[in-house]
Amino acid sequence: MCLLLGGCSHEERFSVTWLDLFDTVCSFTAYCGSREEFDALAEDIHGELLRVHRLCDAYHEYEGMVNLCSLNARAGIEPLAVDGFLYSLLEDAAAYYELSGGALNAAMGSVLTLWHDAREEGTALPSDEALREASLHCGIRSLVLADGTVFFSDPELRLDLGALAKGSAAQHIFSRYPGSWLLNLGGTVAAKGSKPRGAKWQIAVSNAVDGGTLRTEPLQDGFCATSSDSQRYYTVDGVRYSHIIDPETLYPALRHRQVTVFCENGTTADALSTALFILPRDEGEALARRFGAEAIWL
Ligand code: AMP
Ligand code: MG
Repeated sequence: MCLLLGGCSHEERFSVTWLDLFDTVCSFTAYCGSREEFDALAEDIHGELLRVHRLCDAYHEYEGMVNLCSLNARAGIEPLAVDGFLYSLLEDAAAYYELSGGALNAAMGSVLTLWHDAREEGTALPSDEALREASLHCGIRSLVLADGTVFFSDPELRLDLGALAKGSAAQHIFSRYPGSWLLNLGGTVAAKGSKPRGAKWQIAVSNAVDGGTLRTEPLQDGFCATSSDSQRYYTVDGVRYSHIIDPETLYPALRHRQVTVFCENGTTADALSTALFILPRDEGEALARRFGAEAIWL
């Protein structure tokens, strides 16, 4: 009964921060009856998030698990049976490719890896020749999904789920855990229920460009995701190169500085924030309308 009412007045607010998920700072806040209750809930949720983080990791494999890195390593060799969460995330990735007119392409891993490695190195851009060569192996239709198995028909296809992983993880937790809580995965936020006495959670959208808060929005049983060029970038010869790559130019998208999306589904919020960061504003507005999402551009 307590949970249905959105939290009883004797519930207290507890928080925890995690640094081992999705290469970003994550936090979880909940109203619970006791510290013990909160710790048990937080530990359970952290375990689920760690599983999703590992499933979506394109760079490391983990014992006893077929993850994105395993799929990339077996490209063109054999189909692999995967966990149901990863399978449906790959189905979603293929669907958002179509919906975004190709702007959001999880099959662009070969291109994204070149930018990832150059960013880690921090001194130079990937060569145009390497980018062009990699772009020949970004066909989402080479991702073959059948009966719980995954096969890349192009041996050089590489997948990257960075644009969707946090949102789908947030959606997964949202679907499994009732209560009154707020989950923040590096700017991808899920708000479950309301605070005690029915007050909505307040989401401060920060202005990553000039600092400060852009807007504060109330949120209850919904999601918010932000993509910006200030989250991950590096600078070469005084020019900033961000982590979101426009498939048309194979270079970082330059149209916007930040896009925040509010939406009823976590995967959609994350997919849209990345897609809208790439697309022209009018196309982004039409896409957001299709999902009943609200977007804020900077
Ligand atoms: P987000 O922070 O949700 O906007 O996602 C950014 C991440 O998505 C990057 O770090 C890359 O891993 C990946 N990414 C970048 N550009 C694209 C793209 N055009 N399509 C799909 N994934 C992308
Ligand atoms: Mg995203």
